[in-house]
Amino acid sequence: MAFHITECIRKTKNRQPLTNAEIKELVRGITKEPLIEEYQLAAWLMAVCFQGLTDAETAALTMAMRDSGQTMHWDLDGPVADKHSTGGVGDKTTLILAPIVASCGVYMPKMSGRGLGHTGGTIDKLESIPGFNTALAPDAFLKQVREIRCAVAMQTGDLAPADKKLYALRDVTETVDSIPLICASIMSKKLATGADHILLDVKVGSGAFMKNDADARELARLMLAAAKADGRDCTAVLTDMDRPLGMCIGNALEVREAIGVLNGSIDCELGQFCLTLAGELLYMAGMGDAAHCRSMAQEIVETGAAADRFARMIGAQGGDASVVRHPEKLKLSRCERTLTATESGWIAGMQSEEIGRASVLLGAGRMTKKDSIDFGAGIRLHVQYGDEVRKGSPLLTMYADKESQLDEAEAKLRAAITVAVQKPEERPLIRETLRTGADT
Ligand code: URA
Repeated sequence: MAFHITECIRKTKNRQPLTNAEIKELVRGITKEPLIEEYQLAAWLMAVCFQGLTDAETAALTMAMRDSGQTMHWDLDGPVADKHSTGGVGDKTTLILAPIVASCGVYMPKMSGRGLGHTGGTIDKLESIPGFNTALAPDAFLKQVREIRCAVAMQTGDLAPADKKLYALRDVTETVDSIPLICASIMSKKLATGADHILLDVKVGSGAFMKNDADARELARLMLAAAKADGRDCTAVLTDMDRPLGMCIGNALEVREAIGVLNGSIDCELGQFCLTLAGELLYMAGMGDAAHCRSMAQEIVETGAAADRFARMIGAQGGDASVVRHPEKLKLSRCERTLTATESGWIAGMQSEEIGRASVLLGAGRMTKKDSIDFGAGIRLHVQYGDEVRKGSPLLTMYADKESQLDEAEAKLRAAITVAVQKPEERPLIRETLRTGADT
């Protein structure tokens, strides 16, 4: 039967499921001639936003997008793992997890992205290391993964190209925040990258795309189902983004903080969080029982092997590996200002979306696609959610190139932090864990 995009728009608008064949044709028409007109794709995307897709349609869309370009197949002598965060503020876990799991014998070829809106991106963070090359050619990427077991590079143009085009269209048609579309976008890329074991960090809270637990759970459920349908082992952790992760937001600042953890500063929330996720990845990869895997991750940090592996990865990608021993070489912006508490009490609120937006005002992110990043800009928190503060004690320090940027960010940051008279309830960073098999 001939394919008509208008028929797909009508069916989705009326909640009639598309067939697998229709979804394949629709995805084919995103990147291959005869191309579907963008206004018609936009109309279909909007219909999906309002009416949703069935689970079967979401899985079919994910697979068709996965197959829209190159798919990677690894022929290595050990397990291959991948990890994905749905995007947050202060999230530097990839920089810590990749060298830990690689040091423990698991391969971790990682394709990452740049910052998006108020959320940071691993590629921007790594580019704050002088000389670091994130644009690895496929051969160089493969060679590095074979030799060092980890590489973090920008997504190649031919990996799930239908997502690249659809994402750009969603970005300008207010159709990003649809759970089936987010699932297909993320999982098409993850499945195309070819890892056997995939750990999904689904952020939930004010600084995340998923603002509440129910939506985060639904996204996790759909992503796990897509992984399962493709025969992959997948775990999703729902993690708190009602506060930034760790104590630093901004590129050089976050690399410094990640290096601190790799150099042994693990007795902090970020350190413990990363060891738990690393243990989970090792467990998924069959390296032992859960408790053994977590202590293996801790040991590998304590012996200095993970920091050495990170230095090797930086060196292999053209960067200055001496930053691992001397993180102060990662320069911060010249203007700085510390905000202090105007009253005593407890930190009862950390609006991470607003804190992320303030970091963009300071120069750590982009307002338009063409903006360049000030790698040294950002925010160092002196307090976190649940801490006690005294009037006049430091809350945070801002770094920027210009005083005027500090002025702009200051107002936002003051409004983003709530000091209350009562100690707030404890909130764990990991809210829930879901696995393929058990939960889908
Ligand atoms: N990240 C992606 O890659 N895609 C989305 O749709 C949302 C977040």
